[in-house]
Amino acid sequence: MSFPRIEGYVVTEKLGSGSYSTVYKAYTKVGARSIVAVKCIDKSRIKHSGAAVDNLVTEIRLLKTLTHPHIVHMKEFTWDDRNIYIIMEYCCGGDLSKYIQRYGRVPEKQVLYFLQQLASALKFLREKGVVHMDLKPHNLLLHKGSDGKYMLKVADFGFAQHMSEETMRSVRGSPLYMAPEMIAGKYDARVDLWSVGVIMYECLFGKAPYSSATFKQLVDKIQRQDPIRIPPNASVSPGCLDLLTRLLQHDPDKRISYDEFFNHEYLDLEHMPNKENYDKAVGLIKRAIELDARGSYSGALSAYSEGLRFLLPAVGAETDALRRSALSAKLTRYMERAEEIKAFLKGPPQVQGIQTIQAIQEIRPPSTPPRRGGCCVSGVDGASYDFSNSPRNQRCPCNCLSQQQSMNGFCVCREQQSNEIEMERRMNGTPESSTSRDSKNSSEEPQVVAKPRGALARFLRRAPVPYLNTKDDAEDTTPEKSQKASEDNSSDMCRIT
Ligand code: ADP
Ligand code: MG
Repeated sequence: MSFPRIEGYVVTEKLGSGSYSTVYKAYTKVGARSIVAVKCIDKSRIKHSGAAVDNLVTEIRLLKTLTHPHIVHMKEFTWDDRNIYIIMEYCCGGDLSKYIQRYGRVPEKQVLYFLQQLASALKFLREKGVVHMDLKPHNLLLHKGSDGKYMLKVADFGFAQHMSEETMRSVRGSPLYMAPEMIAGKYDARVDLWSVGVIMYECLFGKAPYSSATFKQLVDKIQRQDPIRIPPNASVSPGCLDLLTRLLQHDPDKRISYDEFFNHEYLDLEHMPNKENYDKAVGLIKRAIELDARGSYSGALSAYSEGLRFLLPAVGAETDALRRSALSAKLTRYMERAEEIKAFLKGPPQVQGIQTIQAIQEIRPPSTPPRRGGCCVSGVDGASYDFSNSPRNQRCPCNCLSQQQSMNGFCVCREQQSNEIEMERRMNGTPESSTSRDSKNSSEEPQVVAKPRGALARFLRRAPVPYLNTKDDAEDTTPEKSQKASEDNSSDMCRIT
């Protein structure tokens, strides 16, 4: 087979072909010998077809303006007397149809990973007012970086259109993935959502919902709007099933809307694993650790929680076993710390609560009479004051400190206060002294400070949690690296020399 000659490039192999082109792999003759994909369109084939010319013009015009990590990037376009060439970034992982063929069914976790990337590309296209109209696994390319992670990229914008207010009328796309309303010839941007549903279905169950032996059977099924059956032995999560069934609604008015899709809880686009979100996780965890060290526990808890929401998907998407276990270890550590803080802020549970009360009782100067009915003295004099039935934040009936908070039936103010003092002391490196502790107490109050004990002491003794991007693993575990690897694909597995 002879390959086309393209000035400045050496063509090495055929990558695939589609409705109006053949795509080749090539590398640049000069410079870094970076690998590219060249979409080659035979001029003689488009000469007699107005539609093909339109498609080509559309594709070039659109690709020039679309720069997004999940859209295949066009580097340049050129031509000679025989062909027109679109030079694109090379995606070395093949297309999604080959991936499905190879693996049969794609695990749900991986489906979600791809789906998030596809959705983020669609969100970008929507902002630009572009409808793809030929979304199918053949047009979703995968790039595999040196870290082994796949990046999905939307390709083939030959049928894409800038949306006008009017609905579109000509039939485009591939019937298997084509929204039912396209057959009727009156449709709008929502057709892409149907195609996403079909792609999702095919990934999960190994074949498209209307896969048929003949073209006629396929068209009949679409026209009849056959109900879409989920295989009886399928085991998918309820969130996944909800999204799938809402995408695959025949009636576009009943189909999930774009906004609902982008905000769907299962998709959780906001926390999808990517470089930007990993950076957010790092920033939030850093902040949490700082707040934690300062003793601002509720702020630390919310920063840990939000950071973990970004970090968890990043760990899930990590394919390298070593990096994954390094990240998991940190994730576990932050989760545990967040749990500890949560438990601490909530107040001690019943059994521990008694211990705390005993601790306070022990250090209470004998001159201070125990007060009946107060949370701090319940159990001391036999009174069982059920503080949990009191409204939250009511003043502690024992009046032990000026600012009281009631949580879970116990007064936690004393613990928190002594905790803050202890933290301050530890941060300043000063030895325990009564003056620093006393400064926080109201002057009318007895100078009573509970030395942290039991769970509280353990809570305070914990070594500071390390930052997420410590030098030991930042270079290896961060998605920046994978992003960089996929950007610099000429310097990893895609390099020729
Ligand atoms: P057509 O418009 O003719 O359908 P496509 O752009 O869909 O052409 O490309 C056809 C096939 O070529 C794809 O399904 C894919 O397998 C392969 N291909 C296309 N672009 C690339 C690329 N940038 N990197 C790797 N393979 C590609
Ligand atoms: Mg194609």
